[in-house]
Amino acid sequence: MKTVILGTAHGINVPGKCSPDGRLREWLYSRQVCLMVRDSLRQRGVKCIIDIEAEREPSLAARIAMVNRLVAQHRDCIYVSIHNNAAGSDGCWHGARGFAAFVAPNASPQSRRLAAIFHHSAVGAGLQGNRCYPPSGYYVQSLAVCRDTACPAVLTENLFQDNRDDVDFLLSPSGRQSIVDLHVNAIIEYLGL
Ligand SMILES: [Zn+2]
Repeated sequence: MKTVILGTAHGINVPGKCSPDGRLREWLYSRQVCLMVRDSLRQRGVKCIIDIEAEREPSLAARIAMVNRLVAQHRDCIYVSIHNNAAGSDGCWHGARGFAAFVAPNASPQSRRLAAIFHHSAVGAGLQGNRCYPPSGYYVQSLAVCRDTACPAVLTENLFQDNRDDVDFLLSPSGRQSIVDLHVNAIIEYLGL
């Protein structure tokens, strides 16, 4: 039986990861979504753990080492790192909207299949925003949590924390639920349940 490892985004100690008005804080949003996804997966009988629930991220290297210890312990795992995107780092609002899934350049076919499922699920849920996707539907970028983790791994960017409309949506109860549902549905489809 597979184990799903959910990765929280950053930590309270990482600066700049919030909406320009401070309403959405990425470290907190990710932890809230991870808890909801974990509960929902467990209700469906799926083994699910969160890598770092605490507010702080010790370091990115420590996070990856922790994930790889979990992978060694539980063997058959997938890793999903849950983030919010940003179009700028200038503390201003921007126009880009929508969901995106990422894998590393060294991604396995399993990672790519999981990312493609996330993409299709997001488009099906109307979460594509104004994004223009590559033909595969997912993006390839050398992100450490995908590149250096020892199991199929995808990073999800759940809309833009520096777009006003995306932030309104993300913070609404129905918007938050649709982000949770997207992850649960994609993971369930990947697992063939
Ligand atoms: Zn992030």
